[in-house]
Amino acid sequence: PKRIFHFRRGTADRPADAAEALGLKGANLALLASLDLPVPPGFTIATSAWREAIGVGEDLPQALRADLRGAIEDLEAVTERRFGGDRRPLLLAVRTSARSQMPGIAESVLDVGLNDRTVDVLAAELNDFSFAYRSYRRFIESFAVLVFGADPSELEEIFDAERERAGWGEEPCSVAEWRALIARYQAYLDDEIGLVLPQTPLEQLYGVVEASFASWRRPVAVAHRVLHGIPENAGLAVTAHAMIFNERNLNSGTGRALSRHLQSGESRLSGEFWLGSHRQQEIGGRPPVIDLAEQEGAAAFPADIDELTGFVRRIEAHVGDAVEVEFMVGDGELFLMQSRLARRTPAEAIRVAVELVKEGLIEEAEAILRIDPASLDQLLHPTIERSSDLVVLARGMPASPGAATGEIAFTAERAQEMVNEGRAVILVRTETYPEDIHGMHVAEGVLTIRGGTTSHAAVVARGIGKPCVTGASSLRINAANRTLHAGDLVLHEGDRITIDGASGEVIEGAVTLQRPSLTGDFATLMEFADRARRMRVRTNAETPIEARSARAFGAEGIGLCRTEHMFFEGDRIRAMREMILASDEAGRREALAKLLPIQRSDFIELFEIMAGLPVTIRLLDPPLHEFLPKSDTEIAETAATLHVEEAVLKQRIAALEEFNPMLGHRGCRLAISYPEIVEVQARAIFEAAIEAGEKTGDAVVPEIMVPLVSLRRELDFVKDRIDRVAAQVMAERGRTVTYQVGTMIELPRAIVRADSIAEVADFFSFGTNDLTQTVYGISRDDAGNFLSTYMREGIIERDPFQTIDVEGVGELIAMGVEKARRTRPDISLGVCGEQGGDPASIAFFEQTGLDYVSCSPFRVPIARLAAAQAAI
Ligand code: PEP
Ligand code: MG
Repeated sequence: PKRIFHFRRGTADRPADAAEALGLKGANLALLASLDLPVPPGFTIATSAWREAIGVGEDLPQALRADLRGAIEDLEAVTERRFGGDRRPLLLAVRTSARSQMPGIAESVLDVGLNDRTVDVLAAELNDFSFAYRSYRRFIESFAVLVFGADPSELEEIFDAERERAGWGEEPCSVAEWRALIARYQAYLDDEIGLVLPQTPLEQLYGVVEASFASWRRPVAVAHRVLHGIPENAGLAVTAHAMIFNERNLNSGTGRALSRHLQSGESRLSGEFWLGSHRQQEIGGRPPVIDLAEQEGAAAFPADIDELTGFVRRIEAHVGDAVEVEFMVGDGELFLMQSRLARRTPAEAIRVAVELVKEGLIEEAEAILRIDPASLDQLLHPTIERSSDLVVLARGMPASPGAATGEIAFTAERAQEMVNEGRAVILVRTETYPEDIHGMHVAEGVLTIRGGTTSHAAVVARGIGKPCVTGASSLRINAANRTLHAGDLVLHEGDRITIDGASGEVIEGAVTLQRPSLTGDFATLMEFADRARRMRVRTNAETPIEARSARAFGAEGIGLCRTEHMFFEGDRIRAMREMILASDEAGRREALAKLLPIQRSDFIELFEIMAGLPVTIRLLDPPLHEFLPKSDTEIAETAATLHVEEAVLKQRIAALEEFNPMLGHRGCRLAISYPEIVEVQARAIFEAAIEAGEKTGDAVVPEIMVPLVSLRRELDFVKDRIDRVAAQVMAERGRTVTYQVGTMIELPRAIVRADSIAEVADFFSFGTNDLTQTVYGISRDDAGNFLSTYMREGIIERDPFQTIDVEGVGELIAMGVEKARRTRPDISLGVCGEQGGDPASIAFFEQTGLDYVSCSPFRVPIARLAAAQAAI
């Protein structure tokens, strides 16, 4: 087998699977060499040789030693230097090269080939004994640490002890002093470690290669591989190349160059160059670093800057993306050491991708694939300007991205009052409940002391796109005094704080925020995505604010309007409670009559905002007790406002209590028990459709969605009521309304019976939240307690409530799709659970052939991009 692969400017042995066989560094050097770029000549020992050596055991196999001897002879010929030579000694830099960046494996060993004799040869060649001996010292130290396992701090002590004894300053000043230091090191290795520093360069090389191979097994590296799922036998390559004396003099140095200015996207060399060695910089008093983009920098650069620019361009053109190149200059001669894709912020990534398309270097599809959809999140929300000094009061969970500044309000009511006065507020609660939702809506952001990233506050905040930090447990609220305590610091209602929902920080005072921009490159990228995707992207929205922001983010309709959310605010909850507490149908109808105009005007507004785009409205879904008061004070208040006895109210609450509310009296089960609720909701929808249609001129085609169906007859029953109301309203108004009736598919039985249910449903929307809950039999509200353990133990890889469980829940969805299309080929199929906005899940939905995904407004751009990636 071929163990060794050579490279030098203009030629390289490159195996087909270069990254696998040669590791990142080795493959990259071979690539640069093959592009006729100036790399130092050298060779890479392939991972196959590692595998062979590890199989053999401790010593480096004879066959590899023989190959190494051959490789050195070749390198000697190329460099016109000799390994251990009496003139122009060949010195090597030896580096481990894994398939990906890997912590724990051996560091580079430089100047392999220096010994007691060649150090003087080198000193004579360069006419610089300090440089030669400094290099030798560095070699001895790294060799001793890597190969002999010496303790670096002990080597440091030897150096210090010798300094004391000999009385020199920073480092030895004469050859004699250097030799004395080197002798000390050697004596230490002999006496304390019992090993002799090899004087033969080949022995040095064998030792370094062997120890580098062995470093694969270090615990840190093993842990890294386990964490990232990298197989243990992937193996390590080792690269050796001729040393470049980049620290030799002020004609030398080390640099990093970028092919593009990442903020502007402009094709223009930038980067830094560190001149000479640090010590020489101190002596020379020259600026240690020069800016390659500046005119003076280019003038001070000790090699040809135009040549460097040309080389970097060549790499960029080959890779088709902005690159970052590490290079060295040794006495005026330029060498490229490594290239990689330039690291960039999400905004820079978009800028560069769009620019590359403009320049014709890549296709739109390629630009789409290069942007991580999740990274868009950062761009859609305000961010904190990090330049300012920030006083961090506490750190919680990053529950909903974006930064917000406002005055502290401790209750939803106070938040509302303060906002009415024109003040910006941050709602600060121990935790939040449904009755806090209106406070969350008016607040700039939400901070809670308890809860994680799936707590009520977190879920609601993400849905409405408000920044949120949860679980800032070091803070304490004193509700009576309306104070917030952060250690000794006491903040009062009205004091300003800032929260960063991306980092979880709670910051004192107001901070300058950067507003997001949805125009420019972002818009261009979205156009690319819209051209490439097949699936449509709708939004889950109830309020006008959500609907408008979703439109701004490019939503193509509403895929889920949860009508219950419309009943929590102000008077609405009162009418809702009245309806729930009514003892008979007549009483319910009376309360519902109060809700009708409210619902109607809500729907009119949504229809207007959506201007003819589809709007899916779901009938009431949650169990009724969710709308009832919980605390004693609230119960007393409610009893008073509704003019009922407190005892009666308590009785009703007790009667509605359920052991498993999520499996209880909810969804279409409510519609069947209380058809008058369906009738009023349907009426509100049809009347609104007619009125909005008249106002705007856009025909409104409402889609009415029945939740939690498991039996076809449930849907028959509810659809029948809806159809009857439709006929009534049309007769009353003398207008026709086109509408659709469909169902959520969120129970396993509905999937099994999807073919039959599809006969009565115009559309299906997979409710993957409840579906995941019921397929797994895991309560979505209690999952947090143990799913994290499951993930830590590797029992599941991802939270199935965030990313669709393809093998289980996904398999069922595919089955539902297939069955539904069998009986109704033109059925519209979508998904509206949380997973509808998750890129990995979207890839699955594309494969499954769904027509659309629906997600919270702020996820719409993410979904557009992810849907495009999935379609490419
Ligand atoms: C679902 O169950 O997936 C769904 C979208 O409905 P909800 O989250 O309101 O139960
Ligand atoms: Mg549901």
